Amino acid sequence: MIRGSTELVAIVGSPIAQVKSPENFNAWFGQQNQDRAMIAIDLAPDALEEFIATLRGWRNLRGCVVTVPYKQQLAEWLEHLSPRAAALHSVNVIRREADGSLSGDNVDGEGFIKAAARQGFVPGGRTALVIGSGGVGSAIAYSMAEAGIAQLTVVDASRQRADSLAGILRDDFPGLSISTHYETLAGFDLVVNASPVGMGDSEELPLPPAQLDTLSPATLVADVVTRPEITPLLAAARRRGCRIQTGAEMAIAQLGNLGAYLGVTPLDI
Ligand code: NAD
Repeated sequence: MIRGSTELVAIVGSPIAQVKSPENFNAWFGQQNQDRAMIAIDLAPDALEEFIATLRGWRNLRGCVVTVPYKQQLAEWLEHLSPRAAALHSVNVIRREADGSLSGDNVDGEGFIKAAARQGFVPGGRTALVIGSGGVGSAIAYSMAEAGIAQLTVVDASRQRADSLAGILRDDFPGLSISTHYETLAGFDLVVNASPVGMGDSEELPLPPAQLDTLSPATLVADVVTRPEITPLLAAARRRGCRIQTGAEMAIAQLGNLGAYLGVTPLDI
């Protein structure tokens, strides 16, 4: 129950009815007997600037998770950005500091890495292919670079997006080997679909089907798409004997990263 004393956090985006964070956080707050609650805010684009001004003075709202389509726009108006949020011009969590200033980070990649660690994958010294260089793909690639991956291949249907991400990674991680094309999946320790391909009933793969023949059973294959849980890519990888990681696993793993940044949960929940 929300009381006068309840400390609030929010998730902001548009549309918002589909998000799972409120039920996940509120269930956890309830189990922990905490006087906290998450509310969902469906914000119109022309209200963004006023929302940021309100956030600075909204004393019982500690901060908010940010979802599509505002991750880039809201990053422009914050006083403090983490190095990865600044490099990617994107935030998925904002908190108000004691002096009323706002700080932002993007923990999509941290959530992905935590889920991969649960599959036994540690980035240090490994090789990975990230398909999709949009918001989530960029965050995953950047966090893997921060975590010491040795070689990263980033590709996108838009060549310009992949090149732009590769440029950011080359600037910030000069020791990292970066490529924007691949001939075979052999040799990758991790293959991630970070594009929306495979959502719903599409049955689409984010790579040419013949490439699947080059996939080694030793590779961890991950998808960020949450519906269906087992995407066509994950189903094909499982048939080849690969370990798989679902989009839902990434979303669940990331709850603690979001909550810890907001100061309302431990890092691992
Ligand atoms: P985005 O629009 O920012 O980026 C998607 C990118 O995929 C674009 O750059 C696009 O050009 C590229 N793309 C499309 N088709 C492609 C193809 N066939 N091959 C290569 N690249 C292709 O979107 P986003 O915010 O990065 O979200 C991507 C997906 O991640 C969505 O399905 C979203 O629902 C999901 N998501 C999952 C989680 C999670 O926790 N599991 C979190 C956030 C987002």
